[in-house]
Amino acid sequence: MKRLVVLGAGESGAGAAVLGKDKGWEVFVSDYGKIAPEHKQLLEAEGIEWEEGHHSIDRILMADEVVKSPGIPLDAPVIKQINEKGIHVISEIEFASRYTDAKMVCITGSNGKTTTTLLTYHILKAAGLNVGLAGNVGKSLALQVARENFDVYVIELSSFQLDNMYDFRANIAVILNITPDHLDRYDHKMENYVRAKFRILQNMTPMDAFIYWQDDPVVAAQMRQMQIETQMYPFAEHKEENTAAYVDAENNLIINTPDNHMSMPRADLALNGLHNLYNSMAAGISASLLDIRNEVIKKALSDFQGVEHRLEPCGEVDGVKYINDSKATNVNSTWYALESMTTPTVLILGGKDKGNDYSEILPLVKEKVVGIVAMGKDNDKIMKFFDGVVPTVDTHSLADAIEACRKMAKPGQTVLLSPCCASFDLFDNYEDRGRKFKAAVAELSQK
Ligand code: ADP
Repeated sequence: MKRLVVLGAGESGAGAAVLGKDKGWEVFVSDYGKIAPEHKQLLEAEGIEWEEGHHSIDRILMADEVVKSPGIPLDAPVIKQINEKGIHVISEIEFASRYTDAKMVCITGSNGKTTTTLLTYHILKAAGLNVGLAGNVGKSLALQVARENFDVYVIELSSFQLDNMYDFRANIAVILNITPDHLDRYDHKMENYVRAKFRILQNMTPMDAFIYWQDDPVVAAQMRQMQIETQMYPFAEHKEENTAAYVDAENNLIINTPDNHMSMPRADLALNGLHNLYNSMAAGISASLLDIRNEVIKKALSDFQGVEHRLEPCGEVDGVKYINDSKATNVNSTWYALESMTTPTVLILGGKDKGNDYSEILPLVKEKVVGIVAMGKDNDKIMKFFDGVVPTVDTHSLADAIEACRKMAKPGQTVLLSPCCASFDLFDNYEDRGRKFKAAVAELSQK
C-alpha cells in the first residue's frame, strides 16, 4: 500500500486524507498546531490516523508522497527535511484533480478571487450546471471529489496552492491582477510571486482558455516572457485589440467570445465599482465560454448578493452610510474601494501593516476622503503619512474608532472600513473585524 502523509488538517488537509483513504492509500495526518474538532471527527469516522501539536518526523519521512496545506511555508523545517529525502510534495488541489475528469474553472489574482469565484459559481448554478465550489472558499476539492460527482468545479486558487501544483490542468484560468502581496513567503522577490500565479497556466492546451486583465502591467510583462499555448480572452474597461469584455460608449458591458455576443447595461450589474466591473467581466467570459445562455448570465450578474466583508453596506445612521470592506488587507484593494465611493468618505485605516506604501492611495484620499480614523495598536506610520493631507484621528479600539467616525461624518457622507492592513493586532482575523464593525454600527443606530 502506498503511504500518503497529509501535513496540516484544515479544510484541505482533512479532505485530502479522506480522498486518499478512499483511493487506497495508507494515510497519516500530522498537524503541528491544533486540529479543529470537526476535522478530528471526520478523520476518526474514516479511521484515519492523525497527530497534533508536533510532527513525528520519522513516520513522515516514510511517505511516498506528501500533501501540504497551503498555510505551511515552503521553507518550514519539516518541508526542508521532506525535500532532502526527495519525497514529492503536492497541494490538495493537485492530489484531488487526479481523481476527477470534471471541468476546472480556476481563479487567481492578488485581489478579487473570492468575489469572482462566488460570482462565477452563482452564474453556473443559475444555469443549472452540476457545479461544485472549491479552493479557498467552500468545501475542499478533495472532499467533493470523494463524496460528490460534479461535472464542473469553480476553484479559487491562492499562490500558496499553486506553489505545489505540477500536473493539474485548468480548462479555464483567470488571472484578475497581480500586485505585491505575501512577498514574505517569496523571498521578498516579486518575480517569484508572479511565477507562482502563472503556474495556473501550466499544462493548459489550445482547447483551454486564459482570461486576464489586459491593462495589468505585471501580467503583461510576464506574458511577454512566455509562450502561451492556450486561447486568450483579455478584459479591459475600454476596448483594445482582441478584448473579449469591455464597456462600450453607451455604457454597456459587452462580452465577445467566439460563439457568443452579449450586451447589458453596466448599471444593471449587482456589484459596483471598477474592480467589480472587472470581476463581473471575468465571470461573464467564463460563463460565456461554457455556453451559458445570455439571459441567464445577465440575470445572474444583476442579482448576485455580494460577499460579506467586501464593500458590504451595513446600515445608515443619522444620514451617514457605513460600509464594511474589512477584507481590504492591502493598499491596492483599498484603492479600488475608494475608487468606487460616490460620496465624501471618512476612511478607517490601520492594523498590521505588511510594508504598505500609502502613496498609491494618496490622490484618491485627496479627492474623496474628508477624514481618516486610524484604528490599530500602532498607527504612527498612517498618522505621519496623512498628516496635513486630511484631518486624522488616532484610535486604538473599534469603539473609539466608531465614535471618532460618528463625530467626523456629516449626513450624506460615508464611513468606509477599508483598512489596507491585516487585522491581527486588535482582532482574530478580517471576518472578526468586519463582524464587530457591523455590530458596532447596529448599536449606533439604536442610540
Ligand atoms: P481575494 O479573495 O483575492 O482576497 P476578495 O474578493 O475577497 O479578493 O476581495 C478582497 C478585497 O479586494 C475587497 O475588499 C475589494 O475591495 C478588493 N477587490 C475586489 N476585487 C478586486 C479587483 N478585481 N481588483 C482590485 N481589488 C479588488
